[in-house]
Amino acid sequence: MLDISRVKTISLDLDDTLWPIWPTIERAEKVLHDWLAAHAPMAAALFSNPAALREIRNHVADQRPDIKHDLSAVRRESIRLALYRAGEDPLLAERAFDAFFSARQQVELYEDAHDALAVLSARYPLVSLSNGNADLKRVGIDRFFRAAVSAREFGVGKPDPRIFHAAAGAVDVEPHEVLHVGDDATLDVIGAVNAGMQAVWVNRDGHQWTYDEPPHATVSDLRQLCALLA
Ligand SMILES: [Mg+2]
Repeated sequence: MLDISRVKTISLDLDDTLWPIWPTIERAEKVLHDWLAAHAPMAAALFSNPAALREIRNHVADQRPDIKHDLSAVRRESIRLALYRAGEDPLLAERAFDAFFSARQQVELYEDAHDALAVLSARYPLVSLSNGNADLKRVGIDRFFRAAVSAREFGVGKPDPRIFHAAAGAVDVEPHEVLHVGDDATLDVIGAVNAGMQAVWVNRDGHQWTYDEPPHATVSDLRQLCALLA
């Protein structure tokens, strides 16, 4: 059961909690492919569609445990490898990545997200806690957040308890005073509970909870979260 009296801070997952991530990634991969077609045509030809670029990105993620927590680095290295394999200049990777990265920030918030951020940030300091590479400022929601903690900068990702503790530390509270909110059962909910936090599962698609220890609460969207905390 959620104990609201304990909550001093809310940490929020980003991808698939505030916006759907796959439409964003698909658009960004298309932008990347178009960029390659214009600037490195042999790479665009070898990786003949955005899905082929995703395969090489997944290959790099598997092969490089050293950068796995940093999705920007994984993406940048996958572009470099694609350019190299195609006989194009690997130095183009930075500019190609920039094209991808700008598009990756063009997210479309769930319709409940903006109002919820306004309501929650008026009551609690909010901390973003993400394994992804969204940039709050470029997304346009940085004003709602007191701090941002990412696997990319911290060096390890969720569900490692250390990154949850870093989120609590970023706003000077103890882990048990944090309510973590996220869509991923293992990364968000189980990770937060193991780190000593309370956790709300954002279950937009009506999935079954299949783990032993349940979340402190489950909501189907962020409007419900606001109602729960009201
Ligand atoms: Mg998520």
